[in-house]
Amino acid sequence: MLRQAILKTAASHRARRAIEATPLTRSVVDRFVAGEDVPAAVRASGRLQTSGCLATLDYLGEDTTDRARADHVTRQYVALLDALAVAGLTGTAEVSIKLSALGQALPREGEAVALENALRICAAAARAGTTVTVDMEDHTTTDSTLGIVAQLRREFPQTGAVIQAYLHRSEADCRELATAGSRVRLCKGAYREPASVAYQSRAEVTAAYLRCAEILMGGPGYPMLATHDPEIIEAGTRLAAGRAGGHAGYEFQMLYGIRPGEQARLAEAGHQVRVYVPFGEEWYGYLMRRLAERPANLLFFLRALTSR
Ligand code: FAD
Repeated sequence: MLRQAILKTAASHRARRAIEATPLTRSVVDRFVAGEDVPAAVRASGRLQTSGCLATLDYLGEDTTDRARADHVTRQYVALLDALAVAGLTGTAEVSIKLSALGQALPREGEAVALENALRICAAAARAGTTVTVDMEDHTTTDSTLGIVAQLRREFPQTGAVIQAYLHRSEADCRELATAGSRVRLCKGAYREPASVAYQSRAEVTAAYLRCAEILMGGPGYPMLATHDPEIIEAGTRLAAGRAGGHAGYEFQMLYGIRPGEQARLAEAGHQVRVYVPFGEEWYGYLMRRLAERPANLLFFLRALTSR
């Protein structure tokens, strides 16, 4: 019911105008979204670099069924990568892409369009001297997304994949991906998924995350532990201590605006910390969809407003 109410509110133009106009909304958005355009994203990357953190930048917008929009998103990423190179930030900043924003859901030719656009972005990243990570979306797209990542890796082996620990299949996917040179972001998973494919309870998801983390941190690849959960971060630091190669061989990742104090603490302790930075005009849809997909996300954002 809450989900329906959020979606109904999100779709109403009047509600949207009212929500966008309130000062509270502006301050909430500014906390979680770095700005609306490429210069704002570059400035945020610079600030993170100064504070000793890495960045991965996400141009907001997903679920496109419009070829022109998918091309627009691709051009924004290319412009962003060029701007990061000019600003000298590609040593610390990369980009995260969503295949649904690049055309994956277009009828018939969706996968081919998304692959073509993703290849353009990977080529721009390679020119700029940085990398791309492909976000994971709902479970109906997992096979398609991992297939496209595998194709991208043939030409751009540094391309990162994302595994969602809540899916039953993920331990097997981690085993497959825990190979030398393979960059894998592990997250809990943000979508509302059925019990037939995903663990439902918090305890089960945490246990699944820890099993996946052990596989990735025990392998020769490059694990990226994306979480704000203190229990997992502690386990991650223990696993990191047992790895050869020191801090350079893995990283922690967190979202822009969530637990900044913990991000700084980990960076000061010598861990690599990458902050996921969303930017773009589509912030309204982004926040509303996140809340509708999983009303627990509301709690997640609210908690961030009151804590460090
Ligand atoms: P939660 O279960 O949300 O929180 C666990 C515990 O952490 C809380 O109980 C609390 O103790 C602590 N905590 C959390 N937030 C706070 C806070 N603000 N202040 C204090 N304590 C707090 N999902 C996808 O499905 N696909 C993706 O591609 C994807 N990419 C991501 C990239 C990054 C870098 C990150 C960080 C997340 C990504 N996610 C993605 C989202 C992810 O799947 C989770 O939905 C989200 O991170 C919440 O899970 P959590 O592990 O942080 O822990």
